[in-house]
Amino acid sequence: MGTLLEGRTAVVTGAASGIGRQIALTFAEEGADVVVADLQSEPREGGRPTHERIDDDSPGRAAYVECDVTDRDDLEAAVDGAESFGGLDVMVNNAGIYRRKDFFNVTEVDYERMVAVNQRGVFFGSQVAAERMRERGGAIINMSSIAGITGFATSSLYCMTKGGVRLLTYSLADELGEYDIRVNAIHPGTIRTTMTVEDEPHLADEESVAEAEAKIALGRVGSPTDVARTALYLASDLGEYITGESIAVDGGMVNVG
Ligand code: NAD
Repeated sequence: MGTLLEGRTAVVTGAASGIGRQIALTFAEEGADVVVADLQSEPREGGRPTHERIDDDSPGRAAYVECDVTDRDDLEAAVDGAESFGGLDVMVNNAGIYRRKDFFNVTEVDYERMVAVNQRGVFFGSQVAAERMRERGGAIINMSSIAGITGFATSSLYCMTKGGVRLLTYSLADELGEYDIRVNAIHPGTIRTTMTVEDEPHLADEESVAEAEAKIALGRVGSPTDVARTALYLASDLGEYITGESIAVDGGMVNVG
């Protein structure tokens, strides 16, 4: 337990599960009050809901707000949830989906859904957050991916959405700096969550894990904690002079031969 986020309030989208869940737990361990904004409160990987764990085990308080990030009104409701804790200081636009598909087979339905969650959700999540932060400053963290830095076959749609998140982040850092709002992006590599174990089985069996690890300089797959610690750095005063930055948390994948 620490005090890096004492007195701050954070909204984390997609915080019921995986990376978002660990970000919420880590922030609360550092004293933040956290709004868990997700389609569901049950973690995809199982276990106690994030907001219950925070309330039981952390100095920070928590609330769950049912939120579909594709709906701007739901995003408003999520940031409204921060008001009862004293107002929004940190917004983490983390919710996202990943499906691989051969370029020729991507349908309009696939396209609309992935753009709606991964891009529209981050765009309007940033907008509703910045409206609240204009008077008080704050930090926005957008979850991209190494697929937002480099292209991958069979992931054209995902890469397009995540690359958009990166450039949105840079643009907002420029536009919102005058309000003392910092905007940064995180680019996880291969992180062990339901997304990589079930949705797209990069890590479904030992062979796939070995294949993934062979592409990583540090030789291991990442954990949600690896990403959460980076988010903590960007959210807290440790990162107070950092904006318009993009940080790969990938054990040395994207920039390493
Ligand atoms: P996950 O599937 O384990 O968890 C995602 C959470 O987001 C779930 O709780 C889900 O209910 C929620 N969610 C999905 N759609 C939503 C919506 N429309 N509105 C609100 N909540 C919604 O995934 P994860 O691995 O934790 O991924 C989190 C983020 O990190 C995503 O943006 C993903 O693209 C990104 N990412 C993950 C990896 C990885 O290796 N796991 C790598 C790079 C980037």
